[in-house]
Amino acid sequence: MTRELMDAVVVHGPRDYRLEQVPKPHPGRGEVLIRTGAVGICGSDIKCYTGATLFWGEHGNDGYLEGPVTTGHEFAGIVEELGEGASEKYGIAVGDQVIAEQILPCGKCRFCRDGAYWMCEPNHIFGFKRGRAEGGMAEFTLFPAQARVHLVGHRLSEIEAAYLEPLACAIHAVDRAGIKPGDTVVVAGLGSIGLCMLQWAKQFNPGRLITVGTRAPRLELALQLGADVALNVREVDAVARVKELTEGYGADVVIEATGGADGPQQALEMVRKMGTVVAFSSIKDPVLVNWNLAGDQKELTIRGSHLGPNCYPKAIKAVGDGLIDVRSLVTGQFALDQFDEAIEEAMSGRGIKTMVLPGRRSDS
Ligand SMILES: [Zn+2]
Ligand SMILES: [Zn+2]
Repeated sequence: MTRELMDAVVVHGPRDYRLEQVPKPHPGRGEVLIRTGAVGICGSDIKCYTGATLFWGEHGNDGYLEGPVTTGHEFAGIVEELGEGASEKYGIAVGDQVIAEQILPCGKCRFCRDGAYWMCEPNHIFGFKRGRAEGGMAEFTLFPAQARVHLVGHRLSEIEAAYLEPLACAIHAVDRAGIKPGDTVVVAGLGSIGLCMLQWAKQFNPGRLITVGTRAPRLELALQLGADVALNVREVDAVARVKELTEGYGADVVIEATGGADGPQQALEMVRKMGTVVAFSSIKDPVLVNWNLAGDQKELTIRGSHLGPNCYPKAIKAVGDGLIDVRSLVTGQFALDQFDEAIEEAMSGRGIKTMVLPGRRSDS
């Protein structure tokens, strides 16, 4: 029996991602095979591509990534084939649009046993673990049996469905903030996730929603998407402005999503005494902050945020109901054989979210 092949983008090393023909997977018991619709390129993909030690380790092979592996963790698609029992397990049928959460929980570690599956100790994310968590940058993708699969339905386009992963991360971070009606809320950082955070934060009826960023077009877009105030840190003293707007106290909540080394200190300065800071950014190098602000001076609540646990159904509904606009955040679409161009576009920072459509070829 000859095995069917499919196209996939396989990671071999930093800046060594190759379009290859690999065997098309077939779903076993409890597994689902999808025809991949769209795949987003995320900031962490760029860090991996450019060789960040988090993924590759100091010596190029002792980091988080176990390759060669098909890349891509922001994706959704249409059910192509169901393994035994998968239809009943997830309530899905061939032809349905579905998504799996980005993490594949082991089900055995103390976090999984306690229901905190998103903190699973081995932390296997699609696109980073050869053979166990192959990613979605391929014509077909297999959801292994431990995947958390959700029915998306056809109210969402394939582009919107692929955006559910970063949106779920945004929703979880905002939920962690515990925003109360009337609060002054700062969303710092206007990346593809920050722009979702501010839309979700709006749902909590903040008194004032402030965004902080560095690029004029994104600040403009933030205002269109519901921010009340947009501060460009290149032009104004954002900490001073937030204090002016809050009678000198500072914001009730600061969600730190800048990804920059200055972000954490800015958040600690911007928040009021006894306020809440949500730490979302993934920052390349360790950062230096005045830690006295957190404890002795302000008695802050600092809450971390990892992935988008229990947020996929909310994300699916929010996009379907038109509460969150992700479509205007997708600024580039490429075919699978244009992966090199897609990653270049994502790295350029010109657009917001770059997507690859694995069903497309550039010559068709
Ligand atoms: Zn991501
Ligand atoms: Zn686990």
